[in-house]
Amino acid sequence: MQFRGQILKMTTQNGKPIQYFLNLSHDLIVMNQLVDHKIKIKHIGYECVNCGSDEKIYRMGFCKKCFFESPYASETIIRPELSTAHLGIEERNLEIERSIQLQPHIVYLAYTGDVKVGVTRESQIPTRWIDQGATFALPIAKTENRYEAGMIEVALKEHVADKTNWKKMLEDDYEDDLDLAQFREKIKNDFPVDFQNFYRDNNEVVRLDYPYVAPEKVTSFTLDKNPNFEGVLKGIKGQYLAFEGGHFLNVRGHEGYVIELEI
Ligand SMILES: [Zn+2]
Repeated sequence: MQFRGQILKMTTQNGKPIQYFLNLSHDLIVMNQLVDHKIKIKHIGYECVNCGSDEKIYRMGFCKKCFFESPYASETIIRPELSTAHLGIEERNLEIERSIQLQPHIVYLAYTGDVKVGVTRESQIPTRWIDQGATFALPIAKTENRYEAGMIEVALKEHVADKTNWKKMLEDDYEDDLDLAQFREKIKNDFPVDFQNFYRDNNEVVRLDYPYVAPEKVTSFTLDKNPNFEGVLKGIKGQYLAFEGGHFLNVRGHEGYVIELEI
């Protein structure tokens, strides 16, 4: 069967294991059922996720113009602590920034090969954790807006990583006694004084179960370097498709790419 369309990040449904759906324009392809099957991917063009232009994708699925102009690609998407919508100050489009920033946010610890701290809208849980390939996650604060969550993250990232090391995440080895609640206790005193009231003290560590077994070695490829790829799908973790031989494709890193998919 052949499909053709623009890649968006995979849609997920939490379960045992997590279910993955590849978004290809008008088609939604159940990826779990393709494990152990051969897949062909051919890169044939681009389509900006914002304006639909066929110019080369610049970053995050956006063409260069949209990346520098769209409120969905603004700096506060990456750095929440710079948020200003709660002050009524516009960055690129105040109305959209209000809708993104002025809602409950969660600060969490997650295990993605290392323990890391992160921030997300409450509505994005557990999607955000799944996208990052976290095996464990624990909310440690709930705030009223994005700015507050960002300020907590900034204080904590002096003591904890805030970036995911994709290779470590895919190597998937963790200690069985890894306890995020215990880890939270260790950094409790680093919580900024002004934001203490957002601290949450429950012990509900979430464990996520991927259709995935780590291979011996982990290497990634891009459709820029390899526009005609063919391989047997072996599993999925985070937003990565794992192919036989330890070759990984970061689906999210290819948002806006137009492909032909043969299954
Ligand atoms: Zn664009």
